Amino acid sequence: MLELAAHAKINLSLDIKGRRADGYHELETVMQSIALHDRLVFSAAADGAISLECDSGEVPAGPENLVYRAALLLRENTRCRRGVRISLAKRIPVAAGLGGGSADAAAALAGLNRFWNLGLPPAVLCSLAAVLGADVPFCLRGGTALARGKGELLTPLPALPAMGVVLAKPPFGVSTARVYAAYDQRPAGPGPDTAAMLAAIEQRDPAAVARCLGNVLEPVTASLHPVINDIRRALLRAGAMNALMSGSGPAVFGLCRDEREAGRVAARLTDVPGKILVTRLAGNCPAM
Ligand code: ATP
Repeated sequence: MLELAAHAKINLSLDIKGRRADGYHELETVMQSIALHDRLVFSAAADGAISLECDSGEVPAGPENLVYRAALLLRENTRCRRGVRISLAKRIPVAAGLGGGSADAAAALAGLNRFWNLGLPPAVLCSLAAVLGADVPFCLRGGTALARGKGELLTPLPALPAMGVVLAKPPFGVSTARVYAAYDQRPAGPGPDTAAMLAAIEQRDPAAVARCLGNVLEPVTASLHPVINDIRRALLRAGAMNALMSGSGPAVFGLCRDEREAGRVAARLTDVPGKILVTRLAGNCPAM
């Protein structure tokens, strides 16, 4: 039996630098792991079957689940024909911009590489990860990184202090594809100052990191769901250093000095709809 944590991510900054010939957007985003995680347990299967059980009704339990797709992809690319039973405990809110499916997919790749003794090197795992989704390569390693291209061109960055994070997840999900389609219909607005964010991270300066938060998709998702602006303002009023929507949303995070302070901020968010979670920034995830 093998058990692995699959950590959620937030985007400290997210900019779109253009549209690629293959239809994807050219991203420039600073991604950051947080302590909030799903849990995957791998155990032996008597036959060669791959089976998945999940404690959440919000994600598909069958072949459309990214965990299942990761297992199939590994078998297609190796001679392995072994089976596995995977149980997935979901704690990361679904369709929230927190990369839950990507984190699970990365943990499945890394976990099965060990469980099936495949011995695939990190570079091969990383290219398989990119097949499963733009955020999956980041999730293999986690920590703090600049991601470019579709998200697969990663530059590791210095680890930040374990700042506290308040997550506010409104009671609905959004489709990432729909948000990008809406972005394409709008005139381009100013993007975040990625260089300033990188400098703040180099200096490991929490206040500067908080000041430099920016996400070019936030006004897009907020135009579809104005409550996102209300949540961001509520986090600031409650004492967060700064607040921002993560990824394509709709989850909004507030950064705080530490996890205890995040707990105090969360306790003041009495009028915010949806789920409130308290967590902290996390370092590299040792999954790979
Ligand atoms: P992204 O921005 O990559 O779409 P997200 O954090 O906004 O990520 P996810 O929680 O990853 O959203 O869910 C996106 C979709 O992926 C959901 O509609 C869900 O049904 C599907 N999905 C497939 N496998 C999983 C999984 N293991 N966990 C969560 N969602 C999954």
